[in-house]
Amino acid sequence: MPNYNYKVNLHRIRAFAFDVDGVFTDGSILSTADGDLLRTFDSKDGFAVRMCTMKGYPVAIITGGVSQSIVHRFKGLGVKEEDIYQKSRDKVPDFMDFCTRYGLQPEEVAFAGDDIPDIPVLKVAGLSAAPADAVPEVKDVCDYVSLRPGGRAFARDLIEQVLKVHEDWYLDTEVFAKTF
Ligand SMILES: [Mg+2]
Repeated sequence: MPNYNYKVNLHRIRAFAFDVDGVFTDGSILSTADGDLLRTFDSKDGFAVRMCTMKGYPVAIITGGVSQSIVHRFKGLGVKEEDIYQKSRDKVPDFMDFCTRYGLQPEEVAFAGDDIPDIPVLKVAGLSAAPADAVPEVKDVCDYVSLRPGGRAFARDLIEQVLKVHEDWYLDTEVFAKTF
C-alpha cells in the first residue's frame, strides 16, 4: 500500500466505478440447475449507490460476470444501462470509455476491486479501494483498504467518505421521492 494518506485524494473524486463480485457481494455465487447465477446484495450499499446517482455522480459497473440480474439491480439504483460493462475481460478500456463519455480524467474516478483482474484499473484510477477480504495482490496496490469486507457495506464506506468531503452525504427527501 502506498505510504501516503488516501484522504487527500477524496476531494478530486467526481465519479465511481466498481467491480461486482467480492465488492458488492461476498463473492458467493449460487449456481442453479437452470443455469442462473444468483448473488446477494447489501441494501446499505444499494442506498449509497442511490445517493451517488441522486447527487449526479456517474457510477460505472465493470464486471467479468454477465447476468440480467446485475443490470436490474444497478438500473434500479439509478445507474445508466450504458455504464454497466459486463463480460469485461480487460477492464482498463471499459474504465477509460466511461471516463471519456463523461469528460472525466482517470484521476477523478474512484475504482473498487477485490481480485487480480481489477489491478490494472486500480493502478490508473484516482482513488483505488479494496475490501478487507480482497486478495493480497490487490491490497498491495490500493490507496485504501477498508475495514469492511465485500458485500458488507464496503462500497458504502467508500462512497460515504467521498460524498462527505463534497458535503453531498445527506438525503434530499423531495428528490428521493421523485426517483425510481
Ligand atoms: Mg471481484
